[in-house]
Amino acid sequence: MAKYVFVTGGVTSSLGKGIIAASLAKLLQARGLRVTIQKFDPYINVDPGTLNPYEHGECFVTEDGAETDLDLGHYERFLNIFTSQANNVTTGRIYQTVINKEREGAYLGKTVQVVPHITDEIKRRMLQLGQNGDYDIVITEIGGTVGDIESLPFVEAVRQLQWELPEEDSLVVHLTLIPYLKAAKELKTKPTQHSVKMLSQEGVHPDIIVCRTERPLFPDLRRKIALFCNVKQEAVIEAADAPTIYEVPLAMMREKLDVICMKKLNITNHNEPQLGKWKEFLDKLNYPKSKVTIGLIGKYIELQDAYKSILESFVHAGAMNECQVQVMNVHSEFITADNVSEKLGALDGLLVAPGFGMRGVEGKILAVKYAREKGLPFFGICLGMQMAVIEYARNILGLKEANSTEMVPGTPDPVIDLMEEQKKITTKGGTMRLGSYPCDLKPGSLAHSIYGKDSVTERHRHRWEFNNKYLDEFEKAGMVASGKNPSTGLVEIIELPKHPFFIGVQYHPELKSTVENPQPIFVNFIAAAKVYADKVAQVKNPQLQSEMI
Ligand code: GLN
Repeated sequence: MAKYVFVTGGVTSSLGKGIIAASLAKLLQARGLRVTIQKFDPYINVDPGTLNPYEHGECFVTEDGAETDLDLGHYERFLNIFTSQANNVTTGRIYQTVINKEREGAYLGKTVQVVPHITDEIKRRMLQLGQNGDYDIVITEIGGTVGDIESLPFVEAVRQLQWELPEEDSLVVHLTLIPYLKAAKELKTKPTQHSVKMLSQEGVHPDIIVCRTERPLFPDLRRKIALFCNVKQEAVIEAADAPTIYEVPLAMMREKLDVICMKKLNITNHNEPQLGKWKEFLDKLNYPKSKVTIGLIGKYIELQDAYKSILESFVHAGAMNECQVQVMNVHSEFITADNVSEKLGALDGLLVAPGFGMRGVEGKILAVKYAREKGLPFFGICLGMQMAVIEYARNILGLKEANSTEMVPGTPDPVIDLMEEQKKITTKGGTMRLGSYPCDLKPGSLAHSIYGKDSVTERHRHRWEFNNKYLDEFEKAGMVASGKNPSTGLVEIIELPKHPFFIGVQYHPELKSTVENPQPIFVNFIAAAKVYADKVAQVKNPQLQSEMI
């Protein structure tokens, strides 16, 4: 039977509960404990797949094809494990299950209520991952902020579980904010006191309080928080702002968050934390030897969370190359034929991002053309790959009106078309081609050399695909389909062998990049950008060239 850690948040949202939860999980894992981590979100959507990225950031897709909260991405990147549908539960999913059961007659004769039926379903799912002996510890992050109406049933479920489970099998970590008032030159504990009071009124008392703060929490302040919030002083943890999220596990280790948890959970069978690989990664990240500038061409760039996994993959790939990756966001909607060289001229590589719908696609196509013609390393992901296909069709195959039927349903040259199995689907939730599928790689191709394998699996989230009716024409003109689904022939990867680095993938490689296993296309893309940057430097400064020789 596993032990359970619940992580709640107070005072405000966006405190980084997911990072604190993932950091704790990392430390426990580094001590040899088997840990998994899950997120319970209080909104009514069954999953975040139908949410606009502006609302909720990126939608993270798991191996088993679940569309989930972006915190699951952090869990996977930190822990180097796969999560699944079971790791992300929403109010919508809970209600859907209970209502379906009610219709089936599972509660015949009874009034179905929030307590006990909804809370029972929440508890069942909270315990689920810990029940078949796979894990020593299950960490559950509760989305939202304590005091919200919608998170009440989740907090109530935690209260009941704490009462039902043996004392040493559960604990609650509460994350709060200690604001600094500039005028008073003081850190203020009152919001934390109120937040803990609110949680206590809901019946849950935190065992540990993690305090987000811009300034150090000196002992007298810790004592005050401990006294007013009724926890031991050692259980008041400082979570200072960190230069990168990857420093947080080490900061939490210095604060002994893991030790305090293990003490409360009475876990004695653990080792000293093994964080060698993690520290090696941080060293490379903190002391880069070179720098490249990569353009991220997208339409949600105002909101960085929309491209979370891509940005983190750059961090992993940069460290692997001992190279600082500076990402320049370029809004695809504002790229025109007249300004494209000005907007993209300073880049060492170009990534065209995934996306849905018309807005900004013509700018993406112009960006691809620029990269193709200039020999600038290019990496297209999902919609980005589809844009590369359209660009090639229009400018090399001469199919001037080539398009995706997503953008222009009646296009005379639908080089990107709706997948056959999608044509009969009318509902939107969870109906894309989702999750992990195999992809066979063409020997001798760039993709094959990047992965060093004949076949890989990668995760997907799309409805449209390369139209195989045009494949011959493309291949004759020099664009190669170097990765295909072995059973359907769906084109998963396209590349241009004559270009220094030009690759587009239908899948989302960013979803599988972790600190310990950086995604190979990202790693090679950054390496190619370095080569490009060096070349540009040589052209600008020929003396450098002779010095290098
Ligand atoms: N809109 C495109 C499709 O559905 C691309 C999706 C994506 O970029 N994730 O195929």
